[in-house]
Amino acid sequence: MAGPIMAEPIKTDVLIIGAGPCGLFAVFELGLLDMKAHLVDILDKIGGQCAELYPEKPIYDIPGIPMCTGKSLVDSLMEQIKPFGAQFHLQEMVESIEKIGDPLFRVKTDAGKEFECKVVVIAAGGGSFQPKRPPIPGIEAYEEKSVFYAVRKMEQFRGKRLLIVGGGDSALDWTLNLAPVASRLTLLHRRDQFRAAPDSVNKMMALVAEKKIDLVLGQVTGLDGEGGAVRKAIVKGNDGATIDVECDALLPFFGLTMKLGPVANWGIALKDGELIPVETASFETNVPGIFAIGDINWYPGKLKLILCGFHEGALMAQKAHQYCFPGKRLVFQYTTSSSSLQKKLGVAGGR
Ligand SMILES: Cc1cc2nc3c(=O)[nH]c(=O)nc-3n(C[C@H](O)[C@H](O)[C@H](O)COP(=O)(O)OP(=O)(O)OC[C@H]3O[C@@H](n4cnc5c(N)ncnc54)[C@H](O)[C@@H]3O)c2cc1C
Repeated sequence: MAGPIMAEPIKTDVLIIGAGPCGLFAVFELGLLDMKAHLVDILDKIGGQCAELYPEKPIYDIPGIPMCTGKSLVDSLMEQIKPFGAQFHLQEMVESIEKIGDPLFRVKTDAGKEFECKVVVIAAGGGSFQPKRPPIPGIEAYEEKSVFYAVRKMEQFRGKRLLIVGGGDSALDWTLNLAPVASRLTLLHRRDQFRAAPDSVNKMMALVAEKKIDLVLGQVTGLDGEGGAVRKAIVKGNDGATIDVECDALLPFFGLTMKLGPVANWGIALKDGELIPVETASFETNVPGIFAIGDINWYPGKLKLILCGFHEGALMAQKAHQYCFPGKRLVFQYTTSSSSLQKKLGVAGGR
């Protein structure tokens, strides 16, 4: 009797795990060298942390772009990689990687999809990231209604009374960004020391001095509200007094738990159980044919910056070419002057 019909594996040169900025730019570098890529991401959107955590926040350190937002960076990357026709598989998590050739890999997702590829590029950032939930009894009932762990649209908070909780970069950045939007904003932190960038702390303190926002030291011990709509937070101040902070929305920024997830089971050496060591000539892991770029990798001097992940993608593609086209010579070319690269970009003769 015939067994269940298995879908044919999707064959591709390169399978990229993670559609964050580094996975996206890898498509460009691979594409210039004629390698086709598919990308898989757990999220329902393209762009990794930029899209999920700070779409409207400004980024100032992308070379040649004085300022862009998380979202506009992702939009530009999508425009840039358009000529290469990468295919996306969203809301799917890569669960396993199996070596079936030299090099040839079978990659499976939790949606039952299978890929067969010569090269795997792990651009999985911190894995699947989840916000840390503050220990406030009953907070679940308010989540995504009036308690938010990320700001997707600032407009949503226009004219609202906001209570932001935390002392790190996210809490301070959102305090500064939302202060002009909110009708009233209170920043609550458990102590008077902040982990955020000193410049942000200074700017926040200036707003407090100008009485544009309130700063309270203490912790939320309870929430009061109805039908998911918070009315006030009960705050135990560091002076021992309990006060009510009336608010329409609570934004706790207690950091993220980066759950590495299945990456840990792929037979790749890990550093401190969460990062993938790579060599810095090509950002290949200890498994030939499997590369790691962006926030997920580690090497001496590593900086978790987007621009570093872009560089890593460029060097990765050079080595990946050897696996996809063994014995084929690779000639180094500039996009400015190479008509063959311009043809791939669809701009040949156009300028
Ligand atoms: C608030 C904030 C501000 C920042 N500001 C800057 C800045 O100004 N400049 C700068 O350079 N950097 C900044 N960063 C850091 C920057 O966002 C990261 O360095 C960058 O996003 C890393 O890109 P990535 O592609 O490596 O990973 P990510 O953006 O983390 O994307 C990884 C993707 O992989 C997916 N994934 C993980 N595991 C799997 C799996 N098993 N299967 C399928 N998909 C998987 C995830 O869902 C995710 O979408 C900031 C970060 C934050 C949080």
